[in-house]
Amino acid sequence: MGQKRTFCRICEAHCGMIAEYDEAGQLHKLRPDATHPVSQGFICAKGLKFLDIANHPNRVHTPLRRNSAGELQPCSWDEAYALIGEKLRHIIDEHGVHAVGIYFGTPMIHHSLLMLTLFQWLRAMGTRNLYSAASQDNANKLAAQKIIHGREWVMPIADIEHADFALLLGTNPLVSQGTFIHMPQGTKTYDALIERGGEIVVVDPRHSESAQRWKRHLSIRPGTDVYLLLAILHELRDLYPQDAPKGLDTLLTLAEAYPIPVASHLTSIPEAEITSLVAQFRSDKRCTIFNGVGVNQGRFGTLCLILIQAIAYLSGNFDVRGGILFHPWANILQLLVGIKPQVSRIGGFTSHAGGLPCGILADEILTTGEGQIRALIVIGGNPLTSAPDETRLRQAFEQLDLLVSIDIFQNQTGALADVILPGLTWLERFDIGAWDAMYETAPMLQTAARARKPIAETRSEVRIIAELSILSGKPIFWNRWLARLWARIGWDAMVPILLKPLQWLFSRRLQGADGFPWRRPMGGYYRGRRRKHLCFWDEKLDGEPERLAAFADELQRPRPEHTFLLLGRRRRLAQNSWIHNASREEKAKEACAWLHQDDMARLNLVDGALVEIRSTCGAIQLPVFCHDSVQKGTVIVPHGLPDVNVNRLISSDKTHIEPFSGMHQMSGHHVSIAQI
Ligand code: SF4
Repeated sequence: MGQKRTFCRICEAHCGMIAEYDEAGQLHKLRPDATHPVSQGFICAKGLKFLDIANHPNRVHTPLRRNSAGELQPCSWDEAYALIGEKLRHIIDEHGVHAVGIYFGTPMIHHSLLMLTLFQWLRAMGTRNLYSAASQDNANKLAAQKIIHGREWVMPIADIEHADFALLLGTNPLVSQGTFIHMPQGTKTYDALIERGGEIVVVDPRHSESAQRWKRHLSIRPGTDVYLLLAILHELRDLYPQDAPKGLDTLLTLAEAYPIPVASHLTSIPEAEITSLVAQFRSDKRCTIFNGVGVNQGRFGTLCLILIQAIAYLSGNFDVRGGILFHPWANILQLLVGIKPQVSRIGGFTSHAGGLPCGILADEILTTGEGQIRALIVIGGNPLTSAPDETRLRQAFEQLDLLVSIDIFQNQTGALADVILPGLTWLERFDIGAWDAMYETAPMLQTAARARKPIAETRSEVRIIAELSILSGKPIFWNRWLARLWARIGWDAMVPILLKPLQWLFSRRLQGADGFPWRRPMGGYYRGRRRKHLCFWDEKLDGEPERLAAFADELQRPRPEHTFLLLGRRRRLAQNSWIHNASREEKAKEACAWLHQDDMARLNLVDGALVEIRSTCGAIQLPVFCHDSVQKGTVIVPHGLPDVNVNRLISSDKTHIEPFSGMHQMSGHHVSIAQI
């Protein structure tokens, strides 16, 4: 019997956990760490169940290589590497570095050493073809921050902990903590705001779990958050200061077209409700705003995030406690993993930290010519399920000369791969929570030694990437010997031992947690000279007035008959398209669509009826249920389900890509529904 402190690395919250061992020294249980100074015993169902995932019989234990009969068969690391090395070198020699594409999934973001290694390989190789789940999730957050702060990683941190009023748009923290947010005590921070007499307003087309818990809900027409924010900004125009940052005036001019009556008409939120929101921001209360993926996945995610910060600025809630904060050390991340922006061959999109838009990945593979992608290395991700238009992407992946999946499971992308290389779970590796430290309010940088040794033939992703870099002839640090050393250093075993004495020095200050003291964002980062560099507009946004007007026109027209607006939702036990392999039974329960009762009646549907949901690019079949949280005219389908992949319904057409961020419009598409 024994125990070890660790932390969950599924999402940004990094909740503290205790790993418990049985008499034989085997890890047999994970439980919340009530003494953890930040999460204080909070843990969600995903974290609690992670040991089932790490021990799942479907885990890939050895490298797999496709044989001449087209089947994936176990092989040695040397055999797998021989195939990859030969093909990679040939592709680079014959077609250049851009013929190699790299995709990394969200789980890898929480693996700091891997990200450092991967970005070193990207620098050494120089391919422009980097992709990630960012363009389906949060690319517009990066784009907005680049415009306002000149840096992608200076994220706004909603200070829920000290706010009196919080406006939450398109986020459902009770089910998923949210992107780029790290809350002490998990969702209890929101409860505490209510308990101290504050108010939370949840703006969502659906009466979500969070809206039900924190009571005040504004049911908004899908995709129209931008008009609500413009109306609020317009009502704050008299607060425009003499020394306003660049671009704020342009934003206010844009907002003139959307006063409260117009916004009310477009959003379906009553005028009185919008007026009461404005009153909060005009009061002396500490007000914060946070937008989640529900807003990012619409058409105007970048503009929404800029408007949120402009509202905070005019109302005196920018860079202050209880409002929106910025981490003073956020720039460090930029230095470590920043790479030169690249321009895509297809569509001319400019890359950001998460790479190029996944919406063009199929075209980059299928379109012949110089720079056509011929090899794709996928690390901890499942683009076939998480990127738009599965059908076309499948066609593209089948055409690749080399597809490598580095993963703990054989997912849908892995099923098409030439080689699968088995990686580690976070229980089997050392980690430092550096990635999230740039936008969290915790006063510490957590570290965790591995909770158990790697199983079977699994291997650290850091080592795999360093070794692939050597095999490709483009070694990290531009040096084979350094790359070899980097690959062979036993990071997971050695670093915790080296750090131990250093951490001991801080153990009292960190109240027993493992790690190092870290600065909390306190407000006041943008004092003096720095404030002058803020900028709320960029010429890249010059097309926004027309796009806003066009969408407003579209909203006035009746929706084509018998169509619904498709909206996604997160699931309690899975993270996007990841870890569903470990929760098959739960997945079956979650694989259903939700409709409003009037729509169920109109379509003569009863609970559990099997329906086909069809868009212009594909169709899925699944049972449908009446759900009282759903707005009339919308259909809610969970995303990331492998067998009924909602992204099959989302076209990869470039008109759905936000031009300056590369973010794909993932929600609000028109679909039809028919009983089977
Ligand atoms: S909220 Fe859940 S998934 Fe996220 S870190 Fe905590 S336990 Fe893990």
